[in-house]
Amino acid sequence: MATTDYTAMWEGLGIDLEAHDELLQVLGAAYADVFLSQENRPEGMEYLDFVMTEIHGLRIQELLDVKKRGGKVVGTFCLYVPEEIILAAGGVSVGLCAGADIGTQQVEQLLPRNTCALIKSFVGFKLARVCPYVEACDLVIGETTCDGKKKAYEIFGELKDTFVIEVPHTKSDPAKALWRSEVGRLVRKMEELSGREISAAALRESVRVVNAKRKALQRLNSLRRARPSPISGLDALLINQIQFYDDPVRLTEKLNALCDQLEERIADKVGVAPADAARILVSGCPMATPNWKVPSIVEGIGATIVAEESCVGERGTRNLVAEDGETREAILDRIAERYLQIDCACFTPNTERLDHIVEMARDYEADGVIHYALQFCAPYTMEAYKVAKALKRENTPLLTLETDYSMEDAAQLETRVQAFLEMLEQSGRQQRA
Ligand code: SF4
Ligand code: SF4
Repeated sequence: MATTDYTAMWEGLGIDLEAHDELLQVLGAAYADVFLSQENRPEGMEYLDFVMTEIHGLRIQELLDVKKRGGKVVGTFCLYVPEEIILAAGGVSVGLCAGADIGTQQVEQLLPRNTCALIKSFVGFKLARVCPYVEACDLVIGETTCDGKKKAYEIFGELKDTFVIEVPHTKSDPAKALWRSEVGRLVRKMEELSGREISAAALRESVRVVNAKRKALQRLNSLRRARPSPISGLDALLINQIQFYDDPVRLTEKLNALCDQLEERIADKVGVAPADAARILVSGCPMATPNWKVPSIVEGIGATIVAEESCVGERGTRNLVAEDGETREAILDRIAERYLQIDCACFTPNTERLDHIVEMARDYEADGVIHYALQFCAPYTMEAYKVAKALKRENTPLLTLETDYSMEDAAQLETRVQAFLEMLEQSGRQQRA
């Protein structure tokens, strides 16, 4: 995909060049097929296309340059790891890919077959030595969210230096105290790794940088409320995926420029699909790069995804860190508070998420909701029951999908999505009659 020859850089990282070459070819073809084939994309997507072209090239070079200057590269797999703390220690935070089946045979020698695709994928990328991000990392931070992840980190830790933070599963006062102390433990770990003390000034600046990125993402998401939506759900998903590993300051600037263009498109009533295309809210498990399967099916049939209630979506961007902390400890308190607002299905009870799905369906004027869960993901497949009840009270139609990363069920998914869209179309016609 990249235009420069990065072979020596990949070799230096210990990448399996042959397997990596195959991965880039598959990824390049999928990207062209899913993204570049879309019509009437906003011009500002050119930057995102460029980032994707250089996904294993220029950005990796930038990370290696940071390392040369003494900075640390830190990999994460979950929203609960505060990016602000990594940045304040002079490091770079990268969300590691876990959105494709890689090294499955090797993975299944270490993990049970009935493990969710995301967990298999992050272990697989490491085993197959095809991810320059994970190889460039000085440290990976795991978290005790679902059972599958926390046990997988014990195994992953044998392959890569891994530090696990404890995420509580309730939001009680003792749980909040535990979480605050874990935030402190992460600060100490980052200080030890970077060899520098994390100051209040550095934290204040990193909070400002990450808040600015989240505000740009919030702006982007809120523009999708327009009818017709000025950007496809696929492109919006791509942006939400890229925000985990691109430079935050540069991305914020590019996103705000893109939002300016989207505002013009809204004023001119320019959209990616007709104004009467079905509007879909996708809710559930995160879709990590390069998992584009369900959105490409949904939008391929002619609907528009107008929002994602997901970690790669609004769950990751809707809350900001309050900027009124004066001292280092006060800023860390605000960071801890912000992160514990995330409503992952690992929490119990998790009524905030149910309320938020209902609120998003209303705000984005969604005609229907698709609940997306990975097979063998207990938190999200079980919480689907509560989601269904909450949406039923609102008379919002719901389609529940359970899938993985393979394309084997693509035709079956397409049939189910098609039937759901026909049902929405029919009920829309009845309401208009
Ligand atoms: S779904 Fe939960 S465990 Fe997974 S990335 Fe999101 S917050 Fe973390
Ligand atoms: S998708 Fe579900 S099972 Fe897989 S890592 Fe996330 S919460 Fe855990």
